[in-house]
Amino acid sequence: MNGQLSVYNTLTRKKENFEPLHPPFTGMYVCGPTVYGDAHLGHARPAITFDLIFRYLLHSGYKVRYIRNITDVGHLVNDADEGEDKIARKALLEKLEPMEVAQYYSDRYHHNMDQLNVLKPSIEPRASGHIIEQIEMIKKILGAGFAYIVNGSVYFDVLEYNKKHFYGKLSGRVVDELLSNTRELEGQDEKKNPFDFALWKKALPEHIMRWPSPWSDGFPGWHLECSAMSTKYLGEHFDIHGGGMDLLFPHHESEISQSVAANGQDPCKYWFHNNMITINGQKMGKSLNNFITLNEFFSGNHPLLEKAYSPMTIRFFILQAHYRSTLDFSNEALQSSEKGLKRLMKGLETIGKLTTSEKSTFDFHKFRASCYDALNDDFNSPVLIAELFDGIRHINNIYDKKETITTEDYQALKEFYNVMILDVLGLKPEQTDNSEIINNLMNTIILLRQDAKMKKDYETSDKIRKELTKTNINLKDTKEGTVWNFEE
Ligand code: ZN
Repeated sequence: MNGQLSVYNTLTRKKENFEPLHPPFTGMYVCGPTVYGDAHLGHARPAITFDLIFRYLLHSGYKVRYIRNITDVGHLVNDADEGEDKIARKALLEKLEPMEVAQYYSDRYHHNMDQLNVLKPSIEPRASGHIIEQIEMIKKILGAGFAYIVNGSVYFDVLEYNKKHFYGKLSGRVVDELLSNTRELEGQDEKKNPFDFALWKKALPEHIMRWPSPWSDGFPGWHLECSAMSTKYLGEHFDIHGGGMDLLFPHHESEISQSVAANGQDPCKYWFHNNMITINGQKMGKSLNNFITLNEFFSGNHPLLEKAYSPMTIRFFILQAHYRSTLDFSNEALQSSEKGLKRLMKGLETIGKLTTSEKSTFDFHKFRASCYDALNDDFNSPVLIAELFDGIRHINNIYDKKETITTEDYQALKEFYNVMILDVLGLKPEQTDNSEIINNLMNTIILLRQDAKMKKDYETSDKIRKELTKTNINLKDTKEGTVWNFEE
């Protein structure tokens, strides 16, 4: 143990001492991706946030069972329980089995997570593999009188639940407000109230993902999988539940009500939520066309990117903000992270070259304590990174013989830096590979061609395109800019 860990609990809206229910065992459940497309920056932030938390808990001596699910069924295009399943829609479009789509994008997600040096969770359950558990949970909720059946679908009865419990305790949204804010019920809606949510949906004849149940051939509602799987692997009441702030309502709010309805208690003690990422000050959104996938960041092949950014640059950029602060992406911000990371890794190298003296002018013990203070203050990675930079200033001074360190402190310092940078922050040394160089070169060529076109020098711009074609590189001009591909 390295001091008392204090964490911000979204449920109580305050910082609390972290005390797991059955120490050293700690159970943590984090909502994972819906696998119907490539992971983008919005997926990297929760993955890296909870990786830092996982790593620090392990470092502090806890035995962590970390569950991060894969949503492969039940997440509908429209969050209000209408429309197609996101994965089924993609499968129809690409003429694949839904599970082929889920497998393909899960594999690509895992590859991206490995690149970002995100540790694997202890268990990664899939919603489609836990239909029986979800059906059992619906039976319990129906038995408690907090759900109703209409035409083969089962809905959670929010008003009925709210008479005995509190729907809105996590998000702070109260039912009266929900009632006045929701639009009038349309005639075809099966729900008693628009904010009731589906536990089970009867499948339409064309719906391909379906399972038998006591109510109909159908599929589970999206919120239910996390309640069923967290109960299965961590018990009815566990330590930590996390996810992005966009999941707070209705997803996590509904998870709480499902657990209270079925198990008679809140699912967990601490709720953690990471804040969102904006792109050049704007929210990420389909209509804004600013979803930059991680693969695009790593290759630099996107009109909004001035160059390629390595996985560790993305990781460091995310860790440089506290997880509860918003984080704005821009090329400038990423380039400054890239420089900062290089400085940090160079410092790690310099430590190996220090010589020691009889006395220390550098107070290593005080330095180590301030690093732990930062981590213990709700996993404050930006403060930790600032401390590590300050330490590097001293390390450079020792290297330049302006400060001194004893052999004992030196051994401890070396060990501590390795642990903080490699194990806790999860950063690793990176080689510049050829693909990054190629991408940066291509971006330069595209820029030169754009300049030529702007000056109406079409001879040069055509020549660039033709010369590239000879090496099997094709340029494609799109609304957002020029992209390229290599034909083998
Ligand atoms: Zn979830």
